[in-house]
Amino acid sequence: MPIDPTQRYDPDNIFAKILRGEIPCTKVYEDDWALAFEDINPQAAVHTLVIPKGAYVSWDDFSARASDAEIGGFVRAVGEVARAKGLVEPGYRLLANVGEHGGQEVAHLHVHIFGGQPLGPMIA
Ligand code: ADP
Repeated sequence: MPIDPTQRYDPDNIFAKILRGEIPCTKVYEDDWALAFEDINPQAAVHTLVIPKGAYVSWDDFSARASDAEIGGFVRAVGEVARAKGLVEPGYRLLANVGEHGGQEVAHLHVHIFGGQPLGPMIA
């Protein structure tokens, strides 16, 4: 079920558990602001998720409540992961699903990075 975008942050969501190390992940990057790990059900040759370390439900929540330092650190981390994965040439796709119409399933903000293949007009 897609999440309700008005819900408060649930500290027991699966990505919160990954952040706390309670559930394993295949980590690809970590800094003060963000953690990146491989998607468990990849939709492309490269499918990596980047999440902020702060407790934010969605892009909407993050853009409204996060500090400039958190936002800057997170945006920089997404770019860093894409560079580290060698995706800049020939390119990649970013996606953040928000709420019910966006099809967001996990209630901790995450940006999908897709790449490693031509992606076509839409994916995920
Ligand atoms: P959707 O599933 O519609 O893409 P989201 O944008 O909320 O919705 O994406 C959640 C993503 O999290 C999915 O791509 C899913 O495969 C991934 N995922 C769920 N659980 C885990 C996990 N334990 N480790 C890594 N990725 C996960």
